[in-house]
Amino acid sequence: MAGNKTLTMIKPDAVKKNAIGGILKMINDAGFTIHAMKYTQLTKAQAELFYEVHKERPFYGELTEFMSSGPIVAAILEKDNAVEDFRKLIGATNPAEAAEGTIRKIYASSIGENAVHGSDSDENAKIEGDFHFSACERF
Ligand code: ATP
Ligand code: MG
Repeated sequence: MAGNKTLTMIKPDAVKKNAIGGILKMINDAGFTIHAMKYTQLTKAQAELFYEVHKERPFYGELTEFMSSGPIVAAILEKDNAVEDFRKLIGATNPAEAAEGTIRKIYASSIGENAVHGSDSDENAKIEGDFHFSACERF
């Protein structure tokens, strides 16, 4: 059965563009509610740990440099079928391929600087939520 939580990060490019408010409005308008949220900055080591699955990919260095380059907003979002519905809302990894009306189509600059992260499975949503939030930061 599909779970009801996913983990997002509003990435440093979108924070620099002053797009936090616009992205959160799209998230709320799509029916997601906030279970946990923080404004924070990852160290390079934390970004490497978060994206460890991509360690062997050629873009791993660039990705972890970028993700630790400035503040982000991390949040656990709640909704039925959260993982799949959120990935629909954010659109394809490459904004050039993202559908009209998706967050990445509107706010992303490139495949690297693509505005938002969304978990890709219920299992990873739990791992990523636990990475950012302790039990007493969830409501
Ligand atoms: P995310 O995990 O951030 O939600 P995603 O699931 O759409 O994105 P992944 O394949 O998991 O995409 O890649 C993780 C991130 O690595 C992408 O969001 C992007 O920022 C970066 N990335 C992926 N492919 C490339 C690439 N070819 N060049 C540069 N960066 C890339
Ligand atoms: Mg991914």
